[in-house]
Amino acid sequence: MKASESNKPLVFHTIAELRGWRSQVSGQVGFVPTMGALHEGHATLLRKLQGRCDHSVLSIFVNPTQFGPKEDFSKYPKTWEKDLQIAEEEKVSVVFAPTASEIFPDGYSTYVEETQLSGPLCGIFRPGHFRGVTTVVLKLFNLVQPDLALFGLKDAQQFFVLERMVRDLNLDLKIEGVPTVREPTGLALSSRNVYLTNEEREKAPLIYSTLCRIQDGLLKGEKISKMLEEGAVQLTQAGFQVQYLECRDLATFGSVQNLIQNDQGYLIAVSAYLGSTRLIDNVIINPTQSDGTR
Ligand code: AMP
Repeated sequence: MKASESNKPLVFHTIAELRGWRSQVSGQVGFVPTMGALHEGHATLLRKLQGRCDHSVLSIFVNPTQFGPKEDFSKYPKTWEKDLQIAEEEKVSVVFAPTASEIFPDGYSTYVEETQLSGPLCGIFRPGHFRGVTTVVLKLFNLVQPDLALFGLKDAQQFFVLERMVRDLNLDLKIEGVPTVREPTGLALSSRNVYLTNEEREKAPLIYSTLCRIQDGLLKGEKISKMLEEGAVQLTQAGFQVQYLECRDLATFGSVQNLIQNDQGYLIAVSAYLGSTRLIDNVIINPTQSDGTR
């Protein structure tokens, strides 16, 4: 038997199975929640649990409550066999893949909402999105009872909203953000990149190069409004439909007019459609750490 064949993760589809397992294990439990269609970004999060936790849980759940009525819930990519293979390669102990009705049965009516950081950026263009995210992640935290949960900074606003939820609700776990994993072109890996046509794929890296140009300009003392405007024009001229391109203070997510030294740093975040695909990306400017991580 090959070594990998003996390392298959347990696969649970029900809360009862997961709870049964959780009640029997001891030691540190690490957790990476996902919507599946796994790629190297997800694999990196899983890899970062290794050595830090005795058991790792990967959830695969396309959460209906975080999609708007006109969004891509029903066509969200599904790659179950490949996901299981990645889970096995990354030494995942348990894959938890519940059905929608297992998590949100008929009559479900309880939601949790973060009310500050959820407001701007994606909060404006995806009303109810973060309420859906915080609700499902809190439920998953209750079920998995992790000691450590990892999230990607590709979805920076999501991470900071969840970090705030953990703090505000006194959840007994550590939550950490992991830097964005990118293609060599700079394009952030995303399950949604499969929607891009070949031509769009060639253009898509402009999102990140625009963010980097803005970051460089700001660090050289250029005006924020000028850099953001130029960036939006550049993206629009290349065929993107920009929803937002903004600089926000990481502590409050308040809009920023001038960079000043602060402890928390800044987020330059963008959301833009390329054809019918909505892409988001960001860079974090942290005056205390040059690699942009916190
Ligand atoms: P998703 O399946 O898109 O909901 O993502 C699940 C987790 O993987 C989230 O914490 C994401 O932020 C993270 N993630 C997705 N793409 C990347 C990436 N390119 N680099 C790092 N983390 C990522």
